[in-house]
Amino acid sequence: MTVLDGIRRPEYTGRNRCWPCTVVNAGILGVAAVVAGVAWPPLGVAVAVVGTAAIWIRGYLVPYTPQFAPRLAEYLPVGFTGSSAAASVPEGQSGSLSGTDPSDPEAVLETLLEGGVLVAEGEDLLLSPAFEDAWRREWDRLRDATDEDLAAAVAGAAPGDPAVTTHEVDGGTWVRLAGEGEGEVFLSRPVAVAEAAAVRALDALDAGTDPGTSATAARALRAFLDTCPVCETALVESSTADCCGGRTANPRPVSLCPECGHSLYTFPET
Ligand SMILES: [Zn+2]
Repeated sequence: MTVLDGIRRPEYTGRNRCWPCTVVNAGILGVAAVVAGVAWPPLGVAVAVVGTAAIWIRGYLVPYTPQFAPRLAEYLPVGFTGSSAAASVPEGQSGSLSGTDPSDPEAVLETLLEGGVLVAEGEDLLLSPAFEDAWRREWDRLRDATDEDLAAAVAGAAPGDPAVTTHEVDGGTWVRLAGEGEGEVFLSRPVAVAEAAAVRALDALDAGTDPGTSATAARALRAFLDTCPVCETALVESSTADCCGGRTANPRPVSLCPECGHSLYTFPET
């Protein structure tokens, strides 16, 4: 690990970079560099070089940009679509196989504990080693699946026999489920892999879940992921506010894959 790795912020750079925030920060940096340069030209150059490097490595320079930028963006006359790769997909964030499944979350939790999928350790709930192994085995199988094979796996795992198709959006695959009279749901590729693999692992373990419960459980089980099932990158904590992404009302914490740019789980409001 280099010194630079310690200050890198993958959640604000690369595919996750928020360009409106970058532009605002570059503008502020430009003014600061000119002011410093008037006082002493070498200082102006130093401010510009260090500031540009900071914006490049950390995504922004002005402290707390992600906290104030969404509020600032609300007052701007132009609508920013933010950095999310999901910007042009309806709903923005990934949906779930569970759709509108009415299963009671507490009943699902009880089934998962009784079925040996989750184990309680003190106050914590953990994945059982048997389930974790089975889940990992299934997502290893789906990781490199063609779009066609992934759609087939999702169709096999989804309750209610929806029509499943795949769509290319901003260079990434989204899986679309359309059920009779239930509208449509879009799943990002990492979520589609995670949930289809979870349903298969529940079946393999004979965890006692019916198709609706399995789908609801698959959605909840995503909260236990600490790496991305597609690229195996460690997930980082981010927020639905996602800089200028426009989702500023009640922002919620999410676990995000900085490599794929998709959130794997949105946590309840804190
Ligand atoms: Zn990933």
